[in-house]
Amino acid sequence: MSSDPAASAQWLAFDREHLWHPYTSMLDPLPTYPVVAANGVRLKLADGRELIDGMASWWCAIHGYSHPRINHVLRTQAERLAHVMFGGLAHEPAVQLAERLIALTPEPLQHVFFADSGSVSVEVAIKMALQYWYSQGRAGKQRLLTVRGGYHGDTFGCMSVCDPVNGMHHLFSDALAKQVFAPRPGVRFHEPWQEQDAGELEALLETHHEQLAALILEPVVQGAGGMYFYSPHYLGAARELCERFEVLLIFDEIATGFGRTGKLFAAEHAGVAPDIMCVGKALTGGYLTLAATLATQRVAHGISSGEAPVLMHGPTYMANPLACAVARESIDLLLSTHWQNNVARIEGALERGLESARALPGVADVRVLGAIGVIEMREPVDVAPAQEAFVARGVWVRPFGKLIYVMPPYVNNGEDLERLTGAMCEVAALAGGR
Ligand code: PLP
Repeated sequence: MSSDPAASAQWLAFDREHLWHPYTSMLDPLPTYPVVAANGVRLKLADGRELIDGMASWWCAIHGYSHPRINHVLRTQAERLAHVMFGGLAHEPAVQLAERLIALTPEPLQHVFFADSGSVSVEVAIKMALQYWYSQGRAGKQRLLTVRGGYHGDTFGCMSVCDPVNGMHHLFSDALAKQVFAPRPGVRFHEPWQEQDAGELEALLETHHEQLAALILEPVVQGAGGMYFYSPHYLGAARELCERFEVLLIFDEIATGFGRTGKLFAAEHAGVAPDIMCVGKALTGGYLTLAATLATQRVAHGISSGEAPVLMHGPTYMANPLACAVARESIDLLLSTHWQNNVARIEGALERGLESARALPGVADVRVLGAIGVIEMREPVDVAPAQEAFVARGVWVRPFGKLIYVMPPYVNNGEDLERLTGAMCEVAALAGGR
């Protein structure tokens, strides 16, 4: 890729004319910035400017970019076996990655299905839940229960359990499955919990359990649905209620997995094991698209002893060896570092650095958990000028809705974190009218 600004202006014009970017209009797209390289925690633009990365490429690049250990594994694996169909063939990268996932996730999760993106892993989780109950002779259990404010991906099954407002259910209302929604968990992460706080969830389970296959939740952190941190006790209550009402529990750890909240998986804040769990995003350290759906023996054997004893899914790029090898290395790299100290260090820096934003007139809330720092504005942020202001300050932060947030790579140093939080406070002041 050329880093010549004139050449980049040309391909940028083509990009604007022909390429769809995420959640963007083809007629009036938001501006895009030409990036030509990324190294460590810096993104390099075509004009030579370098930006400190606050987004970890939508929360994936936990080790930063172009890590020598992962680069080496990627090259070696590419020369040995880049891809092969997973039907009828097995390979070591998939097995070694599955061994690690089984060892690191809650103990009852023993069976792994590799999918090619987070959304697909959620589709697979939903399918597992429905097929499990079908196999048990309970074909009426076909709906899902979830909470408001959630985000689980952009495919149709996922969309049906996303927040109905943010997910724009009205656009697809006849095509989406009609799921059951509980209110967003009301008790925040550090607030005291009382038993009645899961009362509405209990009431919905009581009413609908005969039709419900599973309850699906993003544990502790609702990500793209609002960067909202809720009490881990909710997960404990959900586990107990799901047992009582014979409903499976699915945790979507795609955003929270691999240390982001200060625990390796957010479920650990509650000491709760789900029946099915999805991981993705940081699984490959931001290198390649890969996700996994893990299931308990009860679910896996339940499906496999039913009328259709096979799980009805099998993507073309299932368990891609390049992605599996990279994910295995990313996990080993994570575990070989002091990631807990790094995340705690980032948490402290974000708390200190964002504190002054609390007093700004346009700011509704400031919150930090693990390596996630959020300034919530009272009004939606105008993305284009905010983005421009961030780039002018030498940082890459992309707001959405009312949120100016960062989820940096775990290797950001103190100085970079100060630049990130300083820029966030300044842009929040600009966006809030001061
Ligand atoms: N689930 C959660 C909690 C997510 O945050 C996301 C992506 O942001 C997804 C699912 C979808 O993952 P993907 O974009 O890889 O399909």
